[in-house]
Amino acid sequence: MPRVRPPRVRLTRDLARHVRAGHPWIYADALAPSDAATGSVVDVVGSDGKFLARGLYDAGSPLAVRVFTLDPDEAVDGALVYRRVAEALAARRGAIDARETDAFRWVNGEGDFLPGVVVDLYAGVAVLRLDGEAARSLRDHVVAAVVEIGRSLGVSHVHERSRGARGEALHGGMPPSIVEVREAGVRFAVDVLHGQKTGTFLDQRENRRAIRPYASGVEVANLFAYSGGFSVNAALGGATRVVSVDSAKAALDGARINFALNGLDPERHEFACTDAFEWLARARDEGRRFGLVIVDPPSFAPSEKAVPKALAAYRDLHAAALAVVAPSGVLAAASCSSHVGAEAFLGTLREGAHKARRSLRVLEVRGQPADHPSLPAFPEGRYLKMIIARARPV
Ligand code: SAH
Repeated sequence: MPRVRPPRVRLTRDLARHVRAGHPWIYADALAPSDAATGSVVDVVGSDGKFLARGLYDAGSPLAVRVFTLDPDEAVDGALVYRRVAEALAARRGAIDARETDAFRWVNGEGDFLPGVVVDLYAGVAVLRLDGEAARSLRDHVVAAVVEIGRSLGVSHVHERSRGARGEALHGGMPPSIVEVREAGVRFAVDVLHGQKTGTFLDQRENRRAIRPYASGVEVANLFAYSGGFSVNAALGGATRVVSVDSAKAALDGARINFALNGLDPERHEFACTDAFEWLARARDEGRRFGLVIVDPPSFAPSEKAVPKALAAYRDLHAAALAVVAPSGVLAAASCSSHVGAEAFLGTLREGAHKARRSLRVLEVRGQPADHPSLPAFPEGRYLKMIIARARPV
């Protein structure tokens, strides 16, 4: 029970049912004006004045309240953070095989009942991202919990990557820039100071595994390759040659290192630092065809408003990718946009195939791994889709 009742903010829209069902976001336009400070704890009450939820307030964001508890007797404090961080680790049991994987998402924000807080673990280096100014007020509590609970995991450093180019060292001093991790037995060098997000994209771990069998004995093109996560798995899966395409040179330098780390000679493969759409058009014109084409672009839909444009972009990308898929070859297409649902994404594959005059059979509809949990009431948390489809022999 909080010692002092937090200030109350009143719902002005009929959203009580959603809040009770566990949707953790309340927008400012659904609340009566409040003078609560950013980062302060508030009680959300219904129009009848009854307690609904307790969360953190952000006066400067359209996303005004992130809900931390529906229990009127539970305080939002360091003890809550500690319990949730411990609970999140316990929830990884069964999801991560520690014998072969030492990089995983320890805390997945809303999906682990700690809205706005992400902690990724790269061997002994914990990398923290805080989404929104309100979550920032919990930073010291998160660090304390990660250090304490992380002892059993060998956590030596806690680094924050929410702000600034290289982030901020919060425990153990500056971590080494490059941390070597194992993902299902595959070795990767992760740049935790400069890499994208917290260093790399842990959410594709199982999809990277999943493409392996389709790579066996064929040439593979991996578009938007970043540091070659899919590429290395394709090569280990027996691809005769893997082409990794990315517009960022640093990403491909990292991909080369990752090939070598796994005993694969990068010289036997191809790395193209160029725009993926241009590369696809050229490959098509040159008559190049691949037994497996992987497309994993950055999100095309940063907002709900951008969805129609994003759907058209996915359709065009899938059509362009299918133009270089060999007869009976496989397309593995991913989307990390939370605004594009699984069915809508499948629709872009259907339309892309139509545009490319190819027929497809969908083999696998995949999502995000178990260390990226989501809440039933929070579809926004189920953002990752990957569809693996085999083209017909045309
Ligand atoms: N598949 C990767 C993650 C991809 S992230 C993995 O499994 O880890 C998206 C990548 O797309 C980034 O590396 C970015 O540099 C690259 N990118 C963005 N726009 C691009 C474009 N137009 N052409 C080629 N690469 C692009």
